[in-house]
Amino acid sequence: MTQENWDFATRQVRAGYNPTEHNHAVSVPIYQTTAYTLETAQRADAMFAFEDDDPLYTRLSNPTVDVLERRVTALHEGAAAAIALASGMAAVSYALLNVAGPGGHVLTNYRLYGGTVDGFSNIYPELGIHIDVVLDADDIDAYEQAITEDTKAIYVESITNPLATVTDLAALADVAHRHGIPLIVDNTLATPYLLNPFAHGADVVVYSATKALSGHGNVIAGLVVESGDFDYGSGKFPQFTAPHWFLRDADDVPQSCLAVFPDIPFTGRLRALHLNYLGAALSPFDAYLILLGIETLSERVARQVANAEAIVPWLQAHPAVSWVAHPTAAGNPYRQLAEKYLPRGAGSIVSFGFAGTEEQKRRFLDNVKLFSYQANIGDARSLIINPAQTTHIELSNEARANTGLVPETIRLSLGLESIQDLQADLAQAFEIALS
Ligand SMILES: *Cc1c(COP(=O)(O)O)cnc(C)c1O
Repeated sequence: MTQENWDFATRQVRAGYNPTEHNHAVSVPIYQTTAYTLETAQRADAMFAFEDDDPLYTRLSNPTVDVLERRVTALHEGAAAAIALASGMAAVSYALLNVAGPGGHVLTNYRLYGGTVDGFSNIYPELGIHIDVVLDADDIDAYEQAITEDTKAIYVESITNPLATVTDLAALADVAHRHGIPLIVDNTLATPYLLNPFAHGADVVVYSATKALSGHGNVIAGLVVESGDFDYGSGKFPQFTAPHWFLRDADDVPQSCLAVFPDIPFTGRLRALHLNYLGAALSPFDAYLILLGIETLSERVARQVANAEAIVPWLQAHPAVSWVAHPTAAGNPYRQLAEKYLPRGAGSIVSFGFAGTEEQKRRFLDNVKLFSYQANIGDARSLIINPAQTTHIELSNEARANTGLVPETIRLSLGLESIQDLQADLAQAFEIALS
């Protein structure tokens, strides 16, 4: 049996690592080194001419980080390569700079991670990236109508936060491809266990590995994964066909990214240019922690989904709850899309409306004992937050109104604890808050 047809559960513990290449170490070693000996002047010549792809300097490549990149690639059927970065925000910003910079437009909607939306108004224009927003995120025709000559990509999240809406990726991939542009998907909430965007036409997938992918609330990290299939040579993306001195050949002739990385143009260019010159490199130790987390990805996410699916009807039956947002909630409009895209479960983020005063809601938050009050998701521990007053507070009024994020929203990220203990915790905090 080859690595290509291993099941997901096997790939998450084995793919991308061969112990015989690492002193037979069973656990992936942490190569905590800045540089690698060049040995001889002759080898140095070959290394600096990129004729030898052994590691040279850890900002560009590191054996521990390399295993992580190979493993994450292996977790996505249809992926050609991945690049690990120092944060999810680095993954998002590098991907957008790569596809649209300078002067290009990216088409998106407001159902995005708060930091991503904030970046649209606060930094992307300064970097030469223009953002166009479709106001009805579910209206596929609206994306088609909003595409112009300058649109370089459609960018969406697969499951969104905090209201757990589900995006019709295949329909958006069709729209993007009709216009010769890639679909870029932030798949952080779903993880590759619940959803493989490449199977639905995505060309590039980004992750905050900080969240459920690593799953233990102990790292900040990001990844960009590509299919390798998208045609960046159509003329719409001159940055991929322009020669770079950095990529010169043995005769000192500058080469283009497409010529040097024909099978992995997107991540190849990110490594040669963005990682090399802008420098958001992931540390080998953090790569090791993520590898350790990924070993249990399917087990953790399946249990978190089970906890989410158990808390939804319990919340819907509670008098202190006015509404519950999760595709499995009764009457949720995203149920069908979730059945299509998320057969293993619609994720572990569940938001609800607190049926009480702002004062009572604050008392509720102050009195949960097991749920941890913090700005994170996807942890092994269950987390709680009031997003409208915290994680999403920097959103413009237009963005906040558009996403339907109302002040009474409470967001839960279900962890691995016993569902009885989690329900008992919420019950006692509701009781104190409303008494
Ligand atoms: C957290 C998050 C990010 C940003 O990732 P960091 O690792 O915190 O930089 C991007 N997208 C989504 C969907 C996220 O949840």
